[in-house]
Amino acid sequence: MLGRLRRHWRLQREQAALRRRAIPDDLWKRTLVRYPFLQRRAAEDAAALRRLTSLFLDRKEFSAAGGLQLGDAMVVAIAAQAVLPVLRLGLQAYDGFVGIVVHPDQVVARRQVADDAGVVHEYDELLAGEAVQGGPVMLSWRDVRAAGPGAAQGYNVVIHEFAHVLDMADGVANGVPLLPTELPVAAWRATLHEEYERFARRVDAGEDTALDPYGATAEDEFFAVASEAFFVSPQAMQAEHPVLYAMLGRYYRQDPATDTPPSRRSRA
Ligand SMILES: [Zn+2]
Repeated sequence: MLGRLRRHWRLQREQAALRRRAIPDDLWKRTLVRYPFLQRRAAEDAAALRRLTSLFLDRKEFSAAGGLQLGDAMVVAIAAQAVLPVLRLGLQAYDGFVGIVVHPDQVVARRQVADDAGVVHEYDELLAGEAVQGGPVMLSWRDVRAAGPGAAQGYNVVIHEFAHVLDMADGVANGVPLLPTELPVAAWRATLHEEYERFARRVDAGEDTALDPYGATAEDEFFAVASEAFFVSPQAMQAEHPVLYAMLGRYYRQDPATDTPPSRRSRA
């Protein structure tokens, strides 16, 4: 009885949120045109994506930095890309954070690294986005906006950062998100490691790859980079990494290579 009541309240709260955060038809259509990888063949998936986008807008807090003016089209674009990976997993996968900070452009981060002799070196890193444990998620609007044309190269800063959020749900950034029981952690680690090593060797050899070479920096980055390509250039990703594609497909419970139209541009 209590369970049914709770479910009833939750549904009522969701209905109210969907009304509050309803996305106008023309704005939604423009978003799908600008970011074609959001389009889904199945009508129920397309409707679920729009619904989840509204709920995301209701639950998360957007803020602008660096004098950026955040408009409706911008927050809808970010939210729609952010919810794509959790279309089947549900929004609770993002319960660990609330804030999203949008900068006009990439952000310079001062980094420190100690060498083998213990000497600390400082350097600047340019960030298109950043996800930290507990949030907020930082995004560069210039990079978010480039996601349409960038899809053919497998780039997507929003999906990249939200893959990190999923990865960190168990408290560790290691390329292993919270897995359902039918996906054993040991098998996941083994496949990820094997694919990562093979990928890093190809990048070292200067080969052209379907995944962003940045994925060769570490296994958690490889998971984020593979997730980007899985959603925005799935056919190319599947062709080069069929085993990894299948594993991500079981985790995300999606098959974008068959559910979405192929990326229009061929890879250069
Ligand atoms: Zn990353």
